[in-house]
Amino acid sequence: MSRKVALITGASRGIGEAIAKTLSQDYDIVMNYANRKESAQQVLQQLADGNHHMIQCDVSNEQQVKDMMDEILAKYGRIDVVVNNAGITKDNLLLRMSEEEFEDVIDINLKGTYHCIRHVAKIMMKQRSGKIVNMASVVGLCGNAGQVNYAASKGGVIAMTKAVAKELAPRGICVNAVAPGFIETEMTAQLSDTVKQTAISSIAMKRFGKVEEIANVVKFLCSDDSNYITGQVITVDGGMVM
Ligand code: NAP
Repeated sequence: MSRKVALITGASRGIGEAIAKTLSQDYDIVMNYANRKESAQQVLQQLADGNHHMIQCDVSNEQQVKDMMDEILAKYGRIDVVVNNAGITKDNLLLRMSEEEFEDVIDINLKGTYHCIRHVAKIMMKQRSGKIVNMASVVGLCGNAGQVNYAASKGGVIAMTKAVAKELAPRGICVNAVAPGFIETEMTAQLSDTVKQTAISSIAMKRFGKVEEIANVVKFLCSDDSNYITGQVITVDGGMVM
């Protein structure tokens, strides 16, 4: 019997890379990336044995998302899991933030997640099963100075998770979100030492998280062990937000 199929957006590095590696033990993986083809190819080679594939697609572009879903369906005939992980930051203080910085973050983080959910929902509704996991952030729960665009996008992802969970539950589809705190990736490597030290002082465990610590929670939310959980936000932040 063929294995279940999982699409992970933004899987060329960071948290998405760790999710692809972790899920590849149980699923055939479709890795999405936007720009870094070589990095995606390197990750693809490190996945556990399986029928894996990678697709370039800008999730903020609805037509590209539709084409990506069609391509996956043509190749595998099903999509069982989607992890909406692709995301960016373009930080600035409120009064300095440009329209472009605001819109770019909303377009990729929020609308990109919406496009993927909308196009996979049709497929999962026919299957009468599916798991959708959206990557939010503690910033979407608590806000953060200098990140009005990012906070709005992740707050939107959390609200959308709950709305979609209610719509899709009768069709056997679970929709949840993971809200990481500070995790060691390229995204947080950009932060100054002062910001990192301030962040660490606010974390009960006094350290940043590892990408695998997010991937393991995503794995649980994709598995049959979480079949009675939907519309939830699981915070994974070392005790930063309680
Ligand atoms: P990262 O290292 O910066 O990687 C971002 C990933 O998203 C890359 O694979 C990138 O692809 C992809 N991507 C960017 N724009 C895209 C687009 N338009 N279409 C498709 N893919 C796109 O980020 P990360 O730290 O792993 O974060 C992953 C997710 O977790 C994000 O949603 C982020 O907001 C969230 N998060 C991260 C942290 C943290 O501390 N790191 C905390 C809370 C939440 P390319 O490589 O091809 O550019």
